Amino acid sequence: MDRYWVGFLLVFSCLVGALEASAGDSDPIYRTCVGQCEKSGCVGQTCFSHCNFSSDGVSIDGPWYKQEPLYLQWKQWDCQSDCRYYCMLDREKEREALGHGPVKYHGKWPFKRVYGIQEPVSVAFSALNLAMHFHGWLSFFILLYYKLPLKQDKKAYYEYASLWHIYGLLSLNSWFWSAVFHSRDVDLTEKLDYSSAVAFLGYSLIMSILRSFNVRDEAARVMVAAPLLAFLTTHILFINFYKLDYGWNMQVCVVMAVAQLLLWAIWAGVTGHPSRWKLWVVVIGGGLAMLLEIYDFPPYEGYVDAHALWHATTIPLTYIWWSFIRDDAEFRTSNLLKKVK
Ligand SMILES: [Zn+2]
Repeated sequence: MDRYWVGFLLVFSCLVGALEASAGDSDPIYRTCVGQCEKSGCVGQTCFSHCNFSSDGVSIDGPWYKQEPLYLQWKQWDCQSDCRYYCMLDREKEREALGHGPVKYHGKWPFKRVYGIQEPVSVAFSALNLAMHFHGWLSFFILLYYKLPLKQDKKAYYEYASLWHIYGLLSLNSWFWSAVFHSRDVDLTEKLDYSSAVAFLGYSLIMSILRSFNVRDEAARVMVAAPLLAFLTTHILFINFYKLDYGWNMQVCVVMAVAQLLLWAIWAGVTGHPSRWKLWVVVIGGGLAMLLEIYDFPPYEGYVDAHALWHATTIPLTYIWWSFIRDDAEFRTSNLLKKVK
Protein backbone atom coordinates (compact mmCIF):
# COMPACT_ATOMS: atom_id res chain seq x y z
CA MET A 1 0.00 0.00 0.00
CA ASP A 2 2.92 2.38 0.76
CA ARG A 3 4.48 1.87 -2.66
CA TYR A 4 1.07 2.46 -4.19
CA TRP A 5 0.79 5.83 -2.47
CA VAL A 6 4.32 6.95 -3.41
CA GLY A 7 3.71 5.98 -7.04
CA PHE A 8 0.45 7.81 -7.18
CA LEU A 9 1.87 10.95 -5.57
CA LEU A 10 4.67 11.00 -8.17
CA VAL A 11 2.24 10.70 -11.09
CA PHE A 12 -0.02 13.22 -9.39
CA SER A 13 2.67 15.91 -8.95
CA CYS A 14 3.56 15.56 -12.65
CA LEU A 15 -0.08 16.03 -13.60
CA VAL A 16 -0.43 19.16 -11.45
CA GLY A 17 2.78 20.55 -12.97
CA ALA A 18 1.33 20.15 -16.46
CA LEU A 19 -1.62 22.44 -15.69
CA GLU A 20 -1.54 26.00 -16.94
CA ALA A 21 -3.88 28.89 -17.73
CA SER A 22 -4.98 29.87 -21.26
CA ALA A 23 -2.56 31.68 -23.58
CA GLY A 24 -4.97 33.08 -26.19
CA ASP A 25 -6.61 35.77 -24.10
CA SER A 26 -3.28 37.17 -22.89
CA ASP A 27 -2.25 37.79 -26.53
CA PRO A 28 -2.09 41.64 -26.95
CA ILE A 29 -3.46 41.58 -30.53
CA TYR A 30 -6.54 39.63 -29.38
CA ARG A 31 -7.02 41.92 -26.38
CA THR A 32 -6.85 45.05 -28.50
CA CYS A 33 -9.35 43.53 -30.94
CA VAL A 34 -11.86 42.74 -28.15
CA GLY A 35 -11.35 46.16 -26.56
CA GLN A 36 -12.00 47.97 -29.86
CA CYS A 37 -14.93 45.74 -30.76
CA GLU A 38 -16.69 46.40 -27.45
CA LYS A 39 -16.47 50.15 -28.23
CA SER A 40 -17.20 50.13 -31.97
CA GLY A 41 -19.37 47.00 -32.15
CA CYS A 42 -17.45 45.70 -35.15
CA VAL A 43 -14.72 43.21 -35.97
CA GLY A 44 -13.56 43.99 -39.53
CA GLN A 45 -16.75 43.98 -41.63
CA THR A 46 -18.90 42.12 -39.10
CA CYS A 47 -20.93 44.32 -36.74
CA PHE A 48 -23.21 43.39 -33.83
CA SER A 49 -26.36 45.32 -33.00
CA HIS A 50 -26.20 44.53 -29.26
CA CYS A 51 -22.95 46.47 -28.96
CA ASN A 52 -24.83 49.78 -29.54
CA PHE A 53 -25.59 50.62 -25.95
CA SER A 54 -26.51 54.28 -26.31
CA SER A 55 -27.82 54.73 -29.87
CA ASP A 56 -31.11 52.81 -29.60
CA GLY A 57 -33.37 54.38 -26.97
CA VAL A 58 -35.06 51.68 -24.88
CA SER A 59 -38.59 52.93 -24.33
CA ILE A 60 -39.73 53.33 -20.76
CA ASP A 61 -43.09 51.62 -21.30
CA GLY A 62 -41.52 48.50 -22.85
CA PRO A 63 -41.79 45.15 -21.05
CA TRP A 64 -39.90 44.94 -17.73
CA TYR A 65 -37.19 42.66 -19.13
CA LYS A 66 -36.43 45.21 -21.84
CA GLN A 67 -35.68 47.90 -19.27
CA GLU A 68 -32.31 48.57 -17.71
CA PRO A 69 -30.27 47.21 -16.12
CA LEU A 70 -31.12 43.53 -16.76
CA TYR A 71 -31.67 43.97 -20.48
CA LEU A 72 -28.53 46.09 -20.76
CA GLN A 73 -26.56 43.46 -18.89
CA TRP A 74 -27.63 40.76 -21.35
CA LYS A 75 -26.75 43.00 -24.27
CA GLN A 76 -23.34 43.59 -22.77
CA TRP A 77 -22.78 39.86 -22.37
CA ASP A 78 -23.96 39.17 -25.92
CA CYS A 79 -21.70 41.90 -27.21
CA GLN A 80 -18.70 40.62 -25.27
CA SER A 81 -19.37 37.05 -26.37
CA ASP A 82 -19.66 37.99 -30.06
CA CYS A 83 -16.59 40.24 -29.89
CA ARG A 84 -14.54 37.50 -28.28
CA TYR A 85 -15.74 34.94 -30.83
CA TYR A 86 -15.00 36.98 -33.95
CA CYS A 87 -11.70 38.34 -32.59
CA MET A 88 -10.70 34.76 -31.81
CA LEU A 89 -11.62 33.55 -35.33
CA ASP A 90 -9.57 36.42 -36.83
CA ARG A 91 -6.62 35.83 -34.55
CA GLU A 92 -6.66 32.08 -35.18
CA LYS A 93 -6.69 32.67 -38.95
CA GLU A 94 -3.65 34.93 -38.60
CA ARG A 95 -1.88 32.42 -36.38
CA GLU A 96 -2.62 29.57 -38.76
CA ALA A 97 -1.18 31.58 -41.67
CA LEU A 98 2.00 32.02 -39.59
CA GLY A 99 2.11 28.27 -39.01
CA HIS A 100 1.10 28.38 -35.31
CA GLY A 101 -1.24 25.84 -33.76
CA PRO A 102 -4.47 26.83 -31.98
CA VAL A 103 -4.35 28.26 -28.43
CA LYS A 104 -6.98 28.52 -25.73
CA TYR A 105 -9.07 31.64 -25.09
CA HIS A 106 -10.57 32.18 -21.64
CA GLY A 107 -9.93 28.56 -20.78
CA LYS A 108 -11.40 27.15 -24.01
CA TRP A 109 -10.21 26.10 -27.43
CA PRO A 110 -11.38 27.98 -30.53
CA PHE A 111 -14.67 26.25 -31.47
CA LYS A 112 -16.99 26.78 -34.42
CA ARG A 113 -20.53 27.72 -33.50
CA VAL A 114 -23.54 25.79 -34.79
CA TYR A 115 -26.83 27.77 -34.76
CA GLY A 116 -25.24 30.07 -32.20
CA ILE A 117 -24.38 27.12 -29.94
CA GLN A 118 -20.73 27.37 -29.05
CA GLU A 119 -19.84 23.73 -28.43
CA PRO A 120 -22.70 21.59 -29.78
CA VAL A 121 -20.93 18.27 -29.09
CA SER A 122 -20.30 19.12 -25.43
CA VAL A 123 -23.89 20.33 -25.07
CA ALA A 124 -25.23 17.03 -26.42
CA PHE A 125 -23.02 14.95 -24.13
CA SER A 126 -23.89 17.14 -21.12
CA ALA A 127 -27.58 16.55 -21.84
CA LEU A 128 -26.96 12.79 -22.06
CA ASN A 129 -25.09 12.89 -18.75
CA LEU A 130 -28.02 14.75 -17.24
CA ALA A 131 -30.43 12.11 -18.56
CA MET A 132 -28.20 9.30 -17.28
CA HIS A 133 -28.01 10.80 -13.78
CA PHE A 134 -31.77 11.30 -13.77
CA HIS A 135 -32.33 7.68 -14.80
CA GLY A 136 -29.82 6.49 -12.17
CA TRP A 137 -31.31 8.55 -9.40
CA LEU A 138 -34.90 7.62 -10.33
CA SER A 139 -34.15 3.90 -10.37
CA PHE A 140 -32.35 4.27 -7.02
CA PHE A 141 -35.43 6.01 -5.62
CA ILE A 142 -37.78 3.30 -6.92
CA LEU A 143 -35.54 0.54 -5.55
CA LEU A 144 -35.38 2.15 -2.10
CA TYR A 145 -39.02 3.02 -1.59
CA TYR A 146 -40.90 0.49 -3.73
CA LYS A 147 -38.78 -2.66 -3.91
CA LEU A 148 -36.75 -2.92 -0.72
CA PRO A 149 -38.43 -3.37 2.68
CA LEU A 150 -38.93 -0.16 4.69
CA LYS A 151 -38.69 0.53 8.40
CA GLN A 152 -41.88 1.04 10.42
CA ASP A 153 -41.61 4.83 10.01
CA LYS A 154 -41.55 4.31 6.19
CA LYS A 155 -37.88 5.23 6.01
CA ALA A 156 -35.30 3.20 4.09
CA TYR A 157 -32.92 0.92 5.96
CA TYR A 158 -30.02 2.10 3.82
CA GLU A 159 -28.07 4.65 5.89
CA TYR A 160 -26.76 6.62 2.92
CA ALA A 161 -30.14 7.14 1.22
CA SER A 162 -30.56 10.87 1.88
CA LEU A 163 -26.88 11.54 1.17
CA TRP A 164 -27.25 9.94 -2.28
CA HIS A 165 -30.43 11.97 -2.92
CA ILE A 166 -28.44 15.18 -2.36
CA TYR A 167 -25.74 13.73 -4.61
CA GLY A 168 -28.35 13.13 -7.33
CA LEU A 169 -29.63 16.71 -7.10
CA LEU A 170 -26.14 18.20 -7.25
CA SER A 171 -25.24 16.04 -10.26
CA LEU A 172 -28.39 17.06 -12.15
CA ASN A 173 -27.70 20.70 -11.30
CA SER A 174 -24.11 20.56 -12.49
CA TRP A 175 -24.91 18.84 -15.81
CA PHE A 176 -27.74 21.29 -16.46
CA TRP A 177 -25.39 24.27 -16.09
CA SER A 178 -22.72 22.45 -18.06
CA ALA A 179 -25.13 22.20 -21.02
CA VAL A 180 -26.06 25.89 -20.65
CA PHE A 181 -22.44 26.98 -20.38
CA HIS A 182 -21.31 25.02 -23.43
CA SER A 183 -24.20 26.56 -25.40
CA ARG A 184 -23.21 30.12 -24.62
CA ASP A 185 -20.18 31.15 -22.67
CA VAL A 186 -20.85 34.39 -20.82
CA ASP A 187 -19.69 35.51 -17.39
CA LEU A 188 -22.83 34.31 -15.60
CA THR A 189 -23.13 30.88 -17.27
CA GLU A 190 -19.43 30.26 -16.80
CA LYS A 191 -19.57 31.00 -13.08
CA LEU A 192 -22.73 28.93 -12.64
CA ASP A 193 -21.11 25.96 -14.42
CA TYR A 194 -17.84 26.17 -12.53
CA SER A 195 -19.57 26.67 -9.18
CA SER A 196 -21.97 23.77 -9.63
CA ALA A 197 -19.19 21.51 -10.91
CA VAL A 198 -17.06 22.33 -7.86
CA ALA A 199 -20.05 21.74 -5.56
CA PHE A 200 -20.76 18.36 -7.19
CA LEU A 201 -17.12 17.26 -7.18
CA GLY A 202 -16.60 18.38 -3.58
CA TYR A 203 -19.76 16.67 -2.43
CA SER A 204 -18.77 13.42 -4.14
CA LEU A 205 -15.45 13.62 -2.29
CA ILE A 206 -17.36 13.90 0.99
CA MET A 207 -19.51 10.93 -0.09
CA SER A 208 -16.41 8.85 -0.87
CA ILE A 209 -15.00 9.52 2.61
CA LEU A 210 -18.29 8.82 4.41
CA ARG A 211 -19.01 5.63 2.49
CA SER A 212 -15.51 4.13 2.35
CA PHE A 213 -14.87 4.74 6.07
CA ASN A 214 -18.44 3.65 6.78
CA VAL A 215 -19.23 6.81 8.77
CA ARG A 216 -22.78 6.28 10.01
CA ASP A 217 -22.83 8.44 13.10
CA GLU A 218 -24.46 11.82 12.51
CA ALA A 219 -21.90 13.80 14.57
CA ALA A 220 -18.94 12.10 12.90
CA ARG A 221 -20.44 12.85 9.49
CA VAL A 222 -20.69 16.54 10.35
CA MET A 223 -17.11 16.58 11.62
CA VAL A 224 -15.83 15.06 8.36
CA ALA A 225 -17.98 17.22 6.10
CA ALA A 226 -17.60 20.60 7.86
CA PRO A 227 -13.99 21.46 6.91
CA LEU A 228 -14.58 20.33 3.32
CA LEU A 229 -17.83 22.30 3.07
CA ALA A 230 -16.05 25.36 4.49
CA PHE A 231 -13.31 25.02 1.88
CA LEU A 232 -15.82 24.48 -0.95
CA THR A 233 -17.84 27.54 0.10
CA THR A 234 -14.72 29.69 0.24
CA HIS A 235 -13.54 28.42 -3.13
CA ILE A 236 -16.92 29.04 -4.78
CA LEU A 237 -17.07 32.57 -3.31
CA PHE A 238 -13.49 33.13 -4.48
CA ILE A 239 -14.08 32.17 -8.11
CA ASN A 240 -17.40 34.06 -8.24
CA PHE A 241 -16.59 37.30 -6.49
CA TYR A 242 -12.82 37.63 -6.42
CA LYS A 243 -11.07 36.01 -9.37
CA LEU A 244 -11.88 33.13 -11.68
CA ASP A 245 -8.39 31.70 -11.82
CA TYR A 246 -8.62 28.78 -14.29
CA GLY A 247 -5.29 27.23 -13.31
CA TRP A 248 -6.09 27.29 -9.60
CA ASN A 249 -9.65 26.07 -10.10
CA MET A 250 -8.38 23.22 -12.26
CA GLN A 251 -5.90 22.22 -9.55
CA VAL A 252 -8.62 22.22 -6.89
CA CYS A 253 -10.83 20.04 -9.11
CA VAL A 254 -8.03 17.63 -9.98
CA VAL A 255 -7.02 17.24 -6.32
CA MET A 256 -10.63 16.52 -5.30
CA ALA A 257 -11.14 14.10 -8.20
CA VAL A 258 -7.90 12.19 -7.61
CA ALA A 259 -8.54 12.04 -3.86
CA GLN A 260 -11.94 10.40 -4.32
CA LEU A 261 -10.76 8.02 -7.03
CA LEU A 262 -7.92 6.94 -4.71
CA LEU A 263 -10.32 6.46 -1.80
CA TRP A 264 -12.69 4.33 -3.87
CA ALA A 265 -9.77 2.36 -5.30
CA ILE A 266 -8.31 1.60 -1.87
CA TRP A 267 -11.72 0.72 -0.51
CA ALA A 268 -12.44 -1.54 -3.50
CA GLY A 269 -9.14 -3.27 -2.72
CA VAL A 270 -9.87 -3.99 0.93
CA THR A 271 -13.65 -4.37 1.12
CA GLY A 272 -15.56 -7.56 0.59
CA HIS A 273 -18.37 -5.68 -1.13
CA PRO A 274 -20.10 -7.95 -3.70
CA SER A 275 -20.16 -5.17 -6.34
CA ARG A 276 -16.62 -3.94 -5.86
CA TRP A 277 -15.78 -4.68 -9.51
CA LYS A 278 -18.11 -1.83 -10.47
CA LEU A 279 -15.99 0.45 -8.29
CA TRP A 280 -12.90 -0.72 -10.17
CA VAL A 281 -14.49 -0.01 -13.52
CA VAL A 282 -15.50 3.50 -12.44
CA VAL A 283 -12.11 4.25 -10.83
CA ILE A 284 -10.07 3.07 -13.82
CA GLY A 285 -12.49 4.60 -16.33
CA GLY A 286 -12.63 7.84 -14.34
CA GLY A 287 -8.83 7.99 -14.11
CA LEU A 288 -8.43 7.47 -17.86
CA ALA A 289 -11.17 10.00 -18.55
CA MET A 290 -9.37 12.54 -16.36
CA LEU A 291 -6.28 12.21 -18.55
CA LEU A 292 -8.43 13.50 -21.42
CA GLU A 293 -9.30 16.57 -19.37
CA ILE A 294 -5.68 17.21 -18.42
CA TYR A 295 -3.79 16.43 -21.65
CA ASP A 296 -6.42 18.05 -23.78
CA PHE A 297 -6.06 18.64 -27.49
CA PRO A 298 -7.66 21.31 -29.72
CA PRO A 299 -11.04 20.50 -31.32
CA TYR A 300 -11.00 18.26 -34.37
CA GLU A 301 -12.49 20.26 -37.27
CA GLY A 302 -13.43 22.87 -34.66
CA TYR A 303 -15.99 20.57 -33.00
CA VAL A 304 -14.74 17.55 -31.01
CA ASP A 305 -12.08 18.29 -28.40
CA ALA A 306 -10.78 16.37 -25.40
CA HIS A 307 -13.32 18.03 -23.11
CA ALA A 308 -16.24 16.85 -25.28
CA LEU A 309 -14.83 13.30 -25.30
CA TRP A 310 -14.40 13.52 -21.54
CA HIS A 311 -18.11 14.36 -21.23
CA ALA A 312 -18.83 11.36 -23.47
CA THR A 313 -16.86 8.89 -21.32
CA THR A 314 -18.69 9.89 -18.15
CA ILE A 315 -22.03 8.74 -19.65
CA PRO A 316 -21.40 4.94 -19.38
CA LEU A 317 -19.46 5.48 -16.12
CA THR A 318 -22.50 7.24 -14.66
CA TYR A 319 -24.66 4.24 -15.55
CA ILE A 320 -22.28 1.82 -13.78
CA TRP A 321 -21.92 4.21 -10.87
CA TRP A 322 -25.64 4.43 -10.12
CA SER A 323 -25.91 0.66 -10.52
CA PHE A 324 -23.19 0.37 -7.85
CA ILE A 325 -25.17 2.70 -5.58
CA ARG A 326 -28.28 0.53 -6.08
CA ASP A 327 -26.27 -2.63 -5.32
CA ASP A 328 -24.90 -0.96 -2.22
CA ALA A 329 -28.41 -0.09 -1.03
CA GLU A 330 -29.49 -3.71 -1.50
CA PHE A 331 -26.34 -5.07 0.12
CA ARG A 332 -26.56 -2.81 3.20
CA THR A 333 -30.30 -3.39 3.57
CA SER A 334 -29.97 -7.18 3.51
CA ASN A 335 -27.08 -6.98 6.02
CA LEU A 336 -29.13 -4.81 8.36
CA LEU A 337 -32.17 -7.12 8.06
CA LYS A 338 -29.96 -10.12 8.92
CA LYS A 339 -28.83 -8.31 12.07
CA VAL A 340 -32.43 -7.52 13.05
CA LYS A 341 -33.33 -11.19 12.78
ZN1 LIG B 1 -17.78 20.80 -19.71
